[in-house]
Amino acid sequence: MDCRTAEDLMAGLIDNELSPGHQALLEEHLQHCHACSGLLEQLSEQPLSPPPMSPMGDDFWSKMDGVLSAAIDDELEGAAQDTPEAEPSAPKKPSWRPSLALFFYAATLMFALGWGLYNHQQLQLSQQETAMLQNILERERRLSVQPVTIPAALPGSGYTFANNTPSRGTF
Ligand SMILES: [Zn+2]
Repeated sequence: MDCRTAEDLMAGLIDNELSPGHQALLEEHLQHCHACSGLLEQLSEQPLSPPPMSPMGDDFWSKMDGVLSAAIDDELEGAAQDTPEAEPSAPKKPSWRPSLALFFYAATLMFALGWGLYNHQQLQLSQQETAMLQNILERERRLSVQPVTIPAALPGSGYTFANNTPSRGTF
């Protein structure tokens, strides 16, 4: 086996993909050829093939999890503070202007609503007062219309009363 063929087969040896015959031939060459055995050592140290998961072990994923959840928390906090459609990449300044305008709009609306309620209450109060006055007037009217009953004679006394009516005249 020449060095060129050995080089080609080294990747297969590292990945354990060589047939037993090729592997035996390559190992035999490596025992005699210092250049190729040195090259194999270099290749073995470099992660040519996708490495096993050990470099990104539990520690890596727990760190990544922490970073990701922190980023998600930041984004959620930002979304809670700003309007929901605000992009995290978007600058924060334009986002408070619509919300401030919305605030003033809401405040104006609330003021108008309160003013309307106040006026409504005042109207109800004046209506109640009018109704009360009407009741008083009605009571007065009934009192004035109702005939005052005057007893014809006080019991036990010698006096008699006469009604003041035009037909009878006044005594
Ligand atoms: Zn060689």
